[in-house]
Amino acid sequence: MNASINGRDYTFEPGETILQVARRNGIFIPTLCHFRPLNHKPGTCRVCLAEVTDRNGHTEMLTTCNTPMEEGMRVNTRSSRVRNMQRLQVELIFADHDQDCAACARHGDCELQDLAEFVGLATNRFASRLSHDRPFDNTMHGMVRDMSKCIRCLRCVEVCRKVQGVAALTVDGTGTGAHIGVGMAPSQNTSACIQCGQCTLVCPTGALAERDENDEVLNYLSNPELTTVFAFAPSVRVAIGEDFGLPPGENVEGKVVAALRRLGADIVIDTDFAADVVIMEEGTELLGRIRNGGKLPMFTSCCPGWVNYAEKHCPDILPHISTTRSPQAVSSSLVKSYLADKMGIPSRRIRNISVMPCTAKKDEAARAQLYANGQPDTDVVITVRELSRLLRRCGVDLAALEPEPFDNPYMSDSTGAAVIFGTTGGVMEAAVRTVYATLNHKELPGVNVVPVRGMEGLREADVDLGEEHGVIKVAVAHGLGNARKLVDQALAGESPYTFIEVMACPGGCVAGGGTCRVKQNYQPHAIERQKGLYAIDSAMPHRQSHNNPQVISLYKDYLGEPNSHKAHELLHTHYTDRSKVQTESISATKKKLTLTDYSA
Ligand code: SF4
Ligand code: SF4
Ligand code: SF4
Repeated sequence: MNASINGRDYTFEPGETILQVARRNGIFIPTLCHFRPLNHKPGTCRVCLAEVTDRNGHTEMLTTCNTPMEEGMRVNTRSSRVRNMQRLQVELIFADHDQDCAACARHGDCELQDLAEFVGLATNRFASRLSHDRPFDNTMHGMVRDMSKCIRCLRCVEVCRKVQGVAALTVDGTGTGAHIGVGMAPSQNTSACIQCGQCTLVCPTGALAERDENDEVLNYLSNPELTTVFAFAPSVRVAIGEDFGLPPGENVEGKVVAALRRLGADIVIDTDFAADVVIMEEGTELLGRIRNGGKLPMFTSCCPGWVNYAEKHCPDILPHISTTRSPQAVSSSLVKSYLADKMGIPSRRIRNISVMPCTAKKDEAARAQLYANGQPDTDVVITVRELSRLLRRCGVDLAALEPEPFDNPYMSDSTGAAVIFGTTGGVMEAAVRTVYATLNHKELPGVNVVPVRGMEGLREADVDLGEEHGVIKVAVAHGLGNARKLVDQALAGESPYTFIEVMACPGGCVAGGGTCRVKQNYQPHAIERQKGLYAIDSAMPHRQSHNNPQVISLYKDYLGEPNSHKAHELLHTHYTDRSKVQTESISATKKKLTLTDYSA
């Protein structure tokens, strides 16, 4: 079929929209609400306008994202009428928008600012017409929801419902009062939201963002009475380079260590060390459950988004979740006990600063279970995006730094098993390596557990644990929509699995809700980051958690053995049924959401 755009002829397939044909042929039409990665095209922003003349010579101004191309159509995307209409539309969006760019979470990284530049917005005739009474919700530890910045593209609603299966978000209000709400809940913190942050990856503006805690970090760094201990998660080293122009997946571990030291960090340790400790504890717990008839399948516990989901949405599964704390929580607890003892630093003077790919880790740090002596184990958590901002604020160019090694004598050694915690399937693989060796007194042949690798939403494997336990079935799920299927199976008593890994974010931490964002895209670099982690793993001198020399010393000098009384006190936790408070709002929200209707 044939039609023309801007005077040139193009062929197209029946059903293709004008926008699709234009894009396929390299013709740029601005869009805001249209979001290809999720095939989301609600047509709410009205920016993708073009003058369209049909075969009968009838001309009208149409939105190209939802207008099918037709035989003989003539489309003009560049006429002065089109440009004036697009500019007016952008002005109207701004008229309904808090325009405090300088103080906005997305300043310099904003799709609405890009659009203003594209349409050549020179003056803003309708500034300050906004009624400033839309919700500003800062009840969450992990995120902030500022509806004065919302342009109602609904990308957040789509990702929360379609990818995560959580359905926390709805459209509330009408007309100029319309905004993204949280169903019947009084606040996002008490809603169905589990603070995974996936919506912050797709929001084109500053309406949904991580809570910025960089000033807290700077306050700690500038206080000479305090010892600041920075730790960063496995996936941070293969992600943050992107924010400084380096290729996705490149390992910048040494540059991050150097950068944190430039900021003034007193001690830089590796969260990977704690991931190895998690495997020692979780692996031992799994064997204990198998031998003693404990709750099976056992689910992993290192993802706080998943733990929030279980507590809010399916509390009956809580006894199945490992009691081992996450690597962040294990690291922080050991810093204020073991490391403090070893280095002779009073724990009250230590501030743990955790760098994570995750907004839910901010929420985890505030859990009452993870406080000791009235103080949080983890004092502040910043996301990858915040660390990038902090480095820019302090004039540190990560890309230009020479790599520096971790050198803490107690908590900086790591293994290949620990670094793959950053991707879906990694915790399972690390656990299998150690559980096999524990039972068979020899290493798992070939080291890699290939069937649990990849990006399929649900994966399973048969693992031969040797003579005593034979073959067990294990499963891996990422994205909560996928996890829910395994939860329902387990609660129905029909699970064939012994051990299940769940990571809330699709892809795992490499695509966490706090990691680097790419405009108009959704996690385009997760696979490169995953490959980066596997490359680090295969090059490590030690690839099993039980072979980490500093972990061996930790148990010998301090904890005794995995799952000892002291280990339980410092490294394990418990969960709470939080569904009661929210049951009403969660079920009401879900009931009212359909595939096409987002209204509360
Ligand atoms: S969302 Fe974009 S346009 Fe709006 S205030 Fe923030 S930076 Fe400015
Ligand atoms: S943080 Fe996650 S659960 Fe909460 S609204 Fe965003 S996508 Fe949904
Ligand atoms: S909060 Fe962000 S993603 Fe959601 S509708 Fe508003 S602008 Fe779009």
